[in-house]
Parts: sequence; C-alpha cells; structure tokens
Amino acid sequence: MATTQPDRSPRVANREQRFQPAEVSNYEIVSHYFTTAADRLGLQDDVRAVMSSSYREVQVQVPVRQADGRIHVYSGYRVQHNGARGPYKGGVRYHPDVDLDEIRALAQLMSWKTAVVNIPFGGAKGGVNCDPSQLQGDEVQQITRSFIDKIEKVLGPTRDIPAPDVNTNAQVMAWMMDEYGKLHGHTPAIVTGKPISLGGSYGREAATGRGIVLCFREAAPHLGLTPPDTRAVVLGFGNVGSWAACILQDLGAKIIGISDVSGAIHHEAGIDCHALREHLRHGGRLDDFDDVEPISPDELLALDCDVLIPAALGGMIHAGNADLIRARLIIEGANSPTTPRADEILSEKDIEIVPDVLANAGGVIVSYYEWVQNLQHFTWDEREVNDRLGTRMRKAYREVRSRSTKDDVPMRVAAFELGIERVVDVARTRGYI
Ligand code: GLU
Repeated sequence: MATTQPDRSPRVANREQRFQPAEVSNYEIVSHYFTTAADRLGLQDDVRAVMSSSYREVQVQVPVRQADGRIHVYSGYRVQHNGARGPYKGGVRYHPDVDLDEIRALAQLMSWKTAVVNIPFGGAKGGVNCDPSQLQGDEVQQITRSFIDKIEKVLGPTRDIPAPDVNTNAQVMAWMMDEYGKLHGHTPAIVTGKPISLGGSYGREAATGRGIVLCFREAAPHLGLTPPDTRAVVLGFGNVGSWAACILQDLGAKIIGISDVSGAIHHEAGIDCHALREHLRHGGRLDDFDDVEPISPDELLALDCDVLIPAALGGMIHAGNADLIRARLIIEGANSPTTPRADEILSEKDIEIVPDVLANAGGVIVSYYEWVQNLQHFTWDEREVNDRLGTRMRKAYREVRSRSTKDDVPMRVAAFELGIERVVDVARTRGYI
C-alpha cells in the first residue's frame, strides 16, 4: 500500500461534508439511457447486443515499486466500445473506484458522444485503480509507463488514441507519448491533451469548460437569461469545472457556489474563480478562500441559482438529493452525473438538462483538432481552435435541440438517439451488423 503524504492530502472534515455518490453505478446509469433510446429507435435484439457490449476489453496488471521497496499491483483497463466511425477515442482516469464495469460504461458513452458531435472517432475509455493523492515520488509516472507498455498493442494513431480524464493531465499524456515512442518511434498523434510544447493543441485544456459555456449560451435565450443576470453553481473544481466557471465569470455571470473534494463554499455576490484557482494552485483550500462561507453539499445543491454544472464524478445527482435542486438549467460537465431516478425527478420539476454526451464534448472535439494538427505536422492558433469548437458545438446543440422539440422528448433522449442512430448507420454500411 502507498503511504500517505499528510502535506498533500486534502483536508476533509468529515464524510457528511463530501458529496456522496448514488448507490447506482455508472454502468447502470449508461445502460438505462441506452435502453430508453434503443427502445424508442426500435433497435432489433441482435443490433442491440452489438451496441450494448464492448468490441474489446483489456485488463492488465500495473506493478509499481514503492519508496519502501515493495511492489504494489494496480489494475489497468482499456475498453474499446465501438470503432465503426473511426479510431477508438477516450480518456484514461486514475481513481481508486475504477473497475471494469465503470470503464465499460464510459467507453460506451464516448461512442455516442463522438457521434453526437459528428467527429470521425469511435468510443473507448481507460483507467487505473490508483489514488493519485496517495502516490509518492515518481509513482504516477511509473504507473503511466507500465500501463502503456501493457496496452500499446491495441493503441495507435489510427487504432485508439487516449486522452486526459479524471486525475490525469498533460504531463501524464507526455509520459504516455514518450513510452509509446520508445517502441514505435516519435508519434505525437498517439495521445491528445499533450503539453503544447510536445504537439498539444492550443485551447485543449480549456475546451471541455468552453464547450459547457457554449451550451449555456445556446440554452440561455430560451430561459430568458443573459450572462450578466445568471447565477451559477459549479460542482467540482477540477479541469472541467474550473474552466467552465472562469469562462462564465468572464462573460459576466456570478458563480455563487463551488465544491471540490474537500467541501463546498458559497458567496452570494459571486466567487472570483480566477483568484480561487490561483489560491488552490498555491496550496490553499476552498474553505479558507477570502469572503466565502463554507456550506454542506446539500446546501450547495439547494442554492437558488439559474444554472447548475455538475463537473465532478458520476452519480453525484441522485434520488437522495435531486429534489433539493432549484436551478433552471443543468449542464452536465461530468460523465453520467445524473442517475435515472434523479433524471425523472428533475424532469417533473421542469428543469432542463443538457446531457453529458453533448455538454462535455468540447474536450474530445478539440482532441480531434489536436490529432488532425499532429497528422498534418501543423499548428493552428487558439482563435482558430476556439472558432472551430464553437461552430461544431453549436451545430450539435441545435441538432439535438430540434430533435428534442420535434419528438417532444428530453435533450438526453434526443442526444442518445442521435448518437446511437449514427453509429448503427455506419456499422450497417460497413457490414458489421
Ligand atoms: N476524457 C474526456 C471525455 O470524457 C476527453 C476524451 C478525449 O479527448 O478523447 O470526453
């Protein structure tokens, strides 16, 4: 077991102060939404069997030599769900709760996501069941290199292209690219979300957050909202939540509540998200930031606001807390943050939800642009990346919105239908089904 580093562990007062995810797994959540859409599309059983299972599931051992000289063996996974529309694509997460079922569900979600925003990729996901907050020295690097050594045979710029996800970042992508390069030669297009100096794309780090804000801008007029009169609450202040919050704030919105793994804070006049990000980067905690009031996760969800952005882990909005929510619009920054029962409760309350497969697709869209730039050995400036991201997100949003209006179904149902339909169509044309 890795030993704890007291100076790096987040201060957690007690469990009641943390978000408790639902007792419903990511797999159950994704399967439910898939089945609802597949029923409506009238998918035959054989097609449904292909679409609801993975093409390939790889599980590997990831041994790490710890500071005390002992070896700890983690489990690593790469699941390729469907590659009919192009190379498999999806992030790699490092989290103690990672298991095959979770990665399987998230790989499937990536197939629908890449199809909804119409980029030429299939869906995949990977993960290692380690806890980065407990790792020491170069253990994250060791895990990354060992994981890539074990799965490199199923990867490739035209086969499967990993990217960052929960607790992985540009540095981890650099190690992945380096390790793959030792075996195959210099191959920048093997991963996306790399450091800019190694072929990463301008705008990639902010892309998921920027995509969320683009969805907000599309949805806002229907709710009679403009950015300056919008009050938002952001659950999770990692890469996705912090960028979404900062970009919304730059448009004039007030971010009145924020949470991270250590707890939640409230400030009715608006939290300065840029300053908060600097504060956390320099080792500060959420609850010792200037002027804010620490609150419980339930109080955060119950804040009177216009927009709620769940950008933490899956299953955070569930039957036990959905009723507290007073937002008018939810934009899902995380993957599968809303359980099926919570989805029903929110719909009874007339709360509009922009679903994960659309709302957080900005990340994989700019991953696609990064891959295209790498293949062309050419770079675009940030404005070009952001303009292209805006055009693609708006188009996808409008396609999902108009299907939802035409068929009188929630945006989640419309998005899943659109994604599944596109994958099934190409799989048929290629003769897979
Ligand atoms: N991990 C991100 C997601 O869930 C990005 C995946 C990628 O860029 O390939 O969409």
